[in-house]
Amino acid sequence: MRVRVLGSAAGGGFPQWNCSCTGCRAARAGAATARTQSSIAVEAGGRWFLVNASPDVRQQMTACPGLHPRDGRATPLEAVLLTDAEIDHTLGLLLLREGRGVTVHATPATEATLRRGTGFLTTLERYCPVRVVPVEPGVEVALSDELTYTAVDLPTGKEPRFAEVGSADDPGRVVGYRFTDRSTGGSVVYAPGVADVVPALLDACEGASALLVDGTAYADDELVTQGLGTKTAGDMGHLALAGPGGLLERVAGRAARTVLVHLNNSNPVLLEDSPERAAVERAGVEIGTDLLEILA
Ligand SMILES: [Zn+2]
Repeated sequence: MRVRVLGSAAGGGFPQWNCSCTGCRAARAGAATARTQSSIAVEAGGRWFLVNASPDVRQQMTACPGLHPRDGRATPLEAVLLTDAEIDHTLGLLLLREGRGVTVHATPATEATLRRGTGFLTTLERYCPVRVVPVEPGVEVALSDELTYTAVDLPTGKEPRFAEVGSADDPGRVVGYRFTDRSTGGSVVYAPGVADVVPALLDACEGASALLVDGTAYADDELVTQGLGTKTAGDMGHLALAGPGGLLERVAGRAARTVLVHLNNSNPVLLEDSPERAAVERAGVEIGTDLLEILA
């Protein structure tokens, strides 16, 4: 299987339109690598799947030749798998409306938010046929003869934005995915939203070629200390990398490679000469970039 990082930034991208933090200024000046919003593509046997559809999906598919249409308007994109109902992971669904239809793999909790919260699925259905395949954590599902996935239920760590749709404790509000290629035996785990490291996530990393994991924040309070906001990473459902009990020490070395994705523009690891970036690299963890490709 081929896993292509389409977007390695968190919501807002890097730089973010309304932000003049050190990182965003560096990205605008070309001194730090710009990034689009979080998504990967997974391919096996010429069949392509997106995990999350970001607001940058059009630009991302243009940058990925494997996803270009072939005859007329036939697209190699077969389905979109969702990790949750966040705007930066689902707004792109609306941008796929010109196609013959969209197949979406989503947990019932995510589907409910996309219907009765943001309404993205309800809107998309007015433009093209939409097929929703329910995702059940822990159950292996075949996407093709070669490629399978197993979803991993993850804690959300925050109150839902659409409280009328469900509560923070509902299962399946956030999942990660372990993809396995039956012909090569290779596996890759994708978990862009990790509020806490649970045993099921570590189990999924067992024997995996790579873990692409939540690199949203280096320090839990970095938005506050940089004067960019009032929420901590924990408030937003992301376990920060740094410190005892941080994501870095809990996931480093669990898979053959660990790659940070979903990097927020406030994260100092985006600055190439920062001590935080050096600390991540010393832990043997890579900083993901757009277009990074992993074969497994
Ligand atoms: Zn910024």
